[in-house]
Amino acid sequence: MNAPGKQADGVSVGPPLWLLAELTYRCPLQCPYCSNPLDFSSADQELTTEQWVDVLRQGRTMGAAQLGFSGGEPLVRQDLSELISEARHLGYYSNLITSGLGLNADKVEAFAEAGLDHIQVSFQASDPELNNAVAGSRKAFDQKLAMARAVKEAGYPMVLNFVIHRHNIHQMNDIIALCDKLGADYVELATCQYYGWAFKNREGLMPSRAQLEKAEAEVNAYRARLLDAGSAMKLIFVTPDYYEERPKACMNGWGSLFLTVAPDGTALPCHSARILPIDFPNVTEMSMKDIWYNSPGFNHYRGDSWMPEPCRSCDEKGKDFGGCRCQAYMLTGNADNADPVCGKSPHHDRILSARRAADHATAGIEELTFRNAENSRLFFRS
Ligand code: SF4
Ligand code: SF4
Repeated sequence: MNAPGKQADGVSVGPPLWLLAELTYRCPLQCPYCSNPLDFSSADQELTTEQWVDVLRQGRTMGAAQLGFSGGEPLVRQDLSELISEARHLGYYSNLITSGLGLNADKVEAFAEAGLDHIQVSFQASDPELNNAVAGSRKAFDQKLAMARAVKEAGYPMVLNFVIHRHNIHQMNDIIALCDKLGADYVELATCQYYGWAFKNREGLMPSRAQLEKAEAEVNAYRARLLDAGSAMKLIFVTPDYYEERPKACMNGWGSLFLTVAPDGTALPCHSARILPIDFPNVTEMSMKDIWYNSPGFNHYRGDSWMPEPCRSCDEKGKDFGGCRCQAYMLTGNADNADPVCGKSPHHDRILSARRAADHATAGIEELTFRNAENSRLFFRS
């Protein structure tokens, strides 16, 4: 077995600093941009409480300090308080990423008592009609408003997340005004990243460049007004890499900082990697230390010896690691290829044609494929 810190091919590997516990794929909402796998309904096994506790302990022993509880909707797990309490006992900084559905003021208080450090509530839009249409739930918006307030009342910073796409990008001013009215501390305006259900719905979700530029200008102008007014609310606008000429340094490099454990115990270098034709290990069969340092799945794209051209001889490969393996796989059929977002990629035309399609897209919300068990089963069967 290799010693932590050094792999057989000479690549130096540090410990995972971030652990993402995807507790479940169950969720009461149906967001058409959900990053969960399309075939989530075929992976309905979930780790038990004891197994999750063991995952948290192993992760912390390895050096992980940041812990995210996500899903699906992590609140559907009845053992969430117990897991939070264990996370606090182990010394993690823990973050709950939630839709707010299934939350109530008593639970927020119980989580605070158990030691949860941070809660992020996601919204779909600034008004109930659009929010609920995108979420696929009639009661989502009111519940989210109430829970955002409950989080703040419990003494947490109010952290709100909006996924931005062509159906809500015109609402930028209204979204920020809503956040301001609620007293939000941090607002993430994250344009859709095209993985999972978002990739399937990409044509119906992707904004045009003109829409994007207008939205970014509105955010910048609003930010300046907030500053003038002495507001401490922070706005973070995350642009989509489909409009960049260089890819992102995906996950800061494969198997470098991030370790995700899926609901059934599959260990992944990122939450999307499940789609890749790689045999990923499971925490029920191997120790997490062995998974991280020695499994073929986690070593697959470490270092740069796997890179074909143009990345192999590119002087930027130490900066972006060739981009995202999942994006390369989804857009070219081969995960070894350079991320097509890159202007040097021979497959960059796939990005250019997606941009052109976004200029002419007309699909309404009702034409999107919503993320639910029925659609997932249909996808899996086909
Ligand atoms: S993106 Fe929407 S459907 Fe997916 S897990 Fe989050 S709330 Fe549920
Ligand atoms: S060719 Fe590869 S390494 Fe170079 S900038 Fe593009 S994606 Fe990055």
